[in-house]
Amino acid sequence: MNPALKDALTVLEHLEKAGYQAYLVGGCVRDRLMGREPADWDVATDACPDTVQALFPWTVPTGLRHGTVSVLHKKGMTEVTTFRREGAYTDHRRPDAVVFMTDLSKDLARRDFTINAMAEDRRGRLYDPFKGQQDLKQKQIRAVGEPDHRFTEDALRMVRALRFAAQLEFSIEEKTEAAIQRSKCHLTSLAVERVTGELKKLFRAPRPSLGVRYLWKHNLFPVLPPFSRWEMAVPNSPNFPAETLDSLDGEATRWAFFLLMCGVEVSVVRSRLKSFRVSQKEWTEIAVIFQLALSRKEEWQEMEAKRAILEHGWEAIYRGTLLAGEIHGWPPQVRDHCLKALAGWHQEMPVRNQRDLAVNGQDLIRISGRPPGSWVGKVLEELLVRTALGQLPNDKTALMKEGRRIGKFYP
Ligand code: ATP
Ligand code: MG
Repeated sequence: MNPALKDALTVLEHLEKAGYQAYLVGGCVRDRLMGREPADWDVATDACPDTVQALFPWTVPTGLRHGTVSVLHKKGMTEVTTFRREGAYTDHRRPDAVVFMTDLSKDLARRDFTINAMAEDRRGRLYDPFKGQQDLKQKQIRAVGEPDHRFTEDALRMVRALRFAAQLEFSIEEKTEAAIQRSKCHLTSLAVERVTGELKKLFRAPRPSLGVRYLWKHNLFPVLPPFSRWEMAVPNSPNFPAETLDSLDGEATRWAFFLLMCGVEVSVVRSRLKSFRVSQKEWTEIAVIFQLALSRKEEWQEMEAKRAILEHGWEAIYRGTLLAGEIHGWPPQVRDHCLKALAGWHQEMPVRNQRDLAVNGQDLIRISGRPPGSWVGKVLEELLVRTALGQLPNDKTALMKEGRRIGKFYP
């Protein structure tokens, strides 16, 4: 049995023995019914957070305001959330207050979609008051309750619907979809980080096209941050077919392709990426893939290629070239010829990052007798480039000597 499931079942048993109700809920129940491996195993209970903390020796109050306590195991943890009902949502994002309760069905009623509103007890008995199982069979995403009301309460649910469509390869049920069209104006109040969180999951999904197509179908860009804040409007129909997204491998490549679909131009790609508030590491990789794809670069010179691999990393160069082939319709032999040359140069490089060098910062400080400072990183970088390009051997004595010499040029 999956160790995380085993841990969650131990939590259910412990809570039940203490006289409380306890169930597996949400995504894990849905995924089990679909034969998918759940990302996490969430537990819901009528025990209040204080009680949960008192019942288990190791806990972390992860989200006490929402009633969530993490129960720690030898390895891993289980999130335990007290049954709750949510108060009014005046800002279309967060409930003004949450109220703890003892009724499972009310806790299920506050959940977004019927397929996410099922619970299972430790004996495997299923609680499905909103016919989630039926919707699973029909492969559809249907809001719990009145969809307009649910989307007005929390506008993120509309983006989640798109994400689940891509993840589960489902469609959005007719009335739920119609409510997106009517309630989309509430999307403007969403925090970018929450939208990006859902988009990331969408781009990791098997069929991103099944989610992003709704962005165009319902023209969500003018109201959905960060797109709504871009100076240039996203075109009314995508610049490339959405289905291509599904055939592309890797989240970063899919982001790059998605920006191409949105008509982003190379001069603004960095600022557009930053608007999603992804980390610098993420946006730099996506930007390199995007730029390379648009550059149509089929022919490389050896030194230029090796420098690019050093600067941007092999992964980004490889993915950017693949994407260039895809969007410019290169014949497979052209693409493969280009990739083969790049891969050969990548293989040939004796060092690919500073850790591969036969010297390190400590060596340079010792031999030069200088105090540590920014010069160390700069010297290592220069040694790295020249060693990678075959201009210096990766030999400690030689690198120390050269390091000492060039160190003098860096204050
Ligand atoms: P994943 O496999 O990506 O973790 P999930 O269904 O578990 O999918 P989570 O975001 O982890 O999704 O949320 C856990 C559960 O909490 C959901 O299944 C749903 O029941 C409920 N939930 C999450 N976000 C919302 C929301 N915005 N509105 C209502 N219910 C929500
Ligand atoms: Mg989850």
